[in-house]
Amino acid sequence: MNSATLPTLILGGGFTGLFTALHLSHQHYKPPTILIDQEWSFIFKPLLYEFLSGEMNLQHLWPRYDYLLHNSGVAFLRDRIQAIDLQQRQVHLASGLHYTYGKLVLALGGVAGYFGVEGAKEQTFPFRTGEDAMALGGHLRDCLQRATQTEDPQQKRTLLTVAILGAGRSGIELAATLADLLPDWYIPLGGQATELRVVVIQRGKEILKGDRDRLRQTAQTALKQRTVPVELLLETEVTAVHPNTVVLKRNDQIEEFSAATIVWTTGTAINPLIATLPIPEANRDKQGRLKVTNTLQLPDFPEVFAGGDCTVMANPLPTTAQVAYQQGAAIAHNLQALSEGRLPVPAQIGLRGTLMKLGLNDSVAELFDRYEVKGNLGHLIRQAAYIDLLPTPARNFKVTAEWLSDELFYHIAKV
Ligand SMILES: Cc1cc2nc3c(=O)[nH]c(=O)nc-3n(C[C@H](O)[C@H](O)[C@H](O)COP(=O)(O)OP(=O)(O)OC[C@H]3O[C@@H](n4cnc5c(N)ncnc54)[C@H](O)[C@@H]3O)c2cc1C
Repeated sequence: MNSATLPTLILGGGFTGLFTALHLSHQHYKPPTILIDQEWSFIFKPLLYEFLSGEMNLQHLWPRYDYLLHNSGVAFLRDRIQAIDLQQRQVHLASGLHYTYGKLVLALGGVAGYFGVEGAKEQTFPFRTGEDAMALGGHLRDCLQRATQTEDPQQKRTLLTVAILGAGRSGIELAATLADLLPDWYIPLGGQATELRVVVIQRGKEILKGDRDRLRQTAQTALKQRTVPVELLLETEVTAVHPNTVVLKRNDQIEEFSAATIVWTTGTAINPLIATLPIPEANRDKQGRLKVTNTLQLPDFPEVFAGGDCTVMANPLPTTAQVAYQQGAAIAHNLQALSEGRLPVPAQIGLRGTLMKLGLNDSVAELFDRYEVKGNLGHLIRQAAYIDLLPTPARNFKVTAEWLSDELFYHIAKV
């Protein structure tokens, strides 16, 4: 193959990679293009709580890549990427296949980081993927059923206790969801909501570190108002996790906390594939993420574009889906420009606010740093905003560059 017909490879089909592919298809990008992911399906992570609770249709939240990319001109390959050789321009896959690329898109996201806490990886549930949500849901239902059949009060209490480690956004959203959801699952089995406990454990003094005070207060109030009020254990360090037990350090005392369900929501680490790339420290941030130019290229490898959670721009942006999908669109735009002999242009990324789920039918929408909309209306806004963003098959692609439509914004402005 001569270099003009070498494929464009997109590594990772998350928000960056999938949206790059959908935009390329929409632009009728000419070079052959292959999207590679280790999973069969894309997972819409901001709605992973709805996936767990069953509030939304699974097919919309977890669509198969081959469905999304059917007739798109982008091929999908389900495989695990094992090595990336930037010098030889080759990608090696677990199946033994390898590809030589003309252009590359790095969109591999991050992985759970456990900060070396003993037993954390083995004894806690992660909450990052569709499989994670399925596994957690199955385990919780099993615990509730077993709780109805045990005579041992200590064992029952452990089975009915959920410990969530980390009070960042996903820890708080998950706690709020479970605090409403578990009674819905437990009461029909003959149990009582008052028997359930949902506890968030956090090393720092406050929840939602780095967020605005107003959002923190709204979340704190919502946590107290759940069917099962969420308990917060702050200034408490997790030093180890054993089966059904979290070892805690509080006020210089070591304590053991019993819970049959322990979820790890804190910490993101660099994807090992990104960590092993021969990119010098000067072109990475402290966490090892790759520094990219304002056109989303690697400084020393202009044929390589990168975006999302595995990268950092000169002006760092939050590691969110909101940023990642806009970067995907910008990468597609620049790939198209290069293929037509034009120069790539700087990515324009807009930050439009924060949407958080604070229970079943309860959310907060902080918009453009000006408006806060809570409760059921906040819930409707969050659902509407995300439903508008759910990827649709390339054949009926809609432009998703606007996170909130003008119409929706108009309604909010009137609130
Ligand atoms: C529970 C949860 C809730 C969130 N809520 C929000 C929210 O409300 N709003 C918001 O804006 N953001 C939210 N985020 C963050 C958001 O989901 C991420 O910032 C976004 O997904 C990053 O996109 P990405 O493309 O960089 O990586 P990802 O979406 O993580 O995609 C990476 C892809 O690479 C694939 N991959 C990785 N390694 C390999 C390999 N070796 N071989 C093959 N494939 C591989 C993975 O399977 C994955 O599909 C949430 C995240 C989580 C976990």
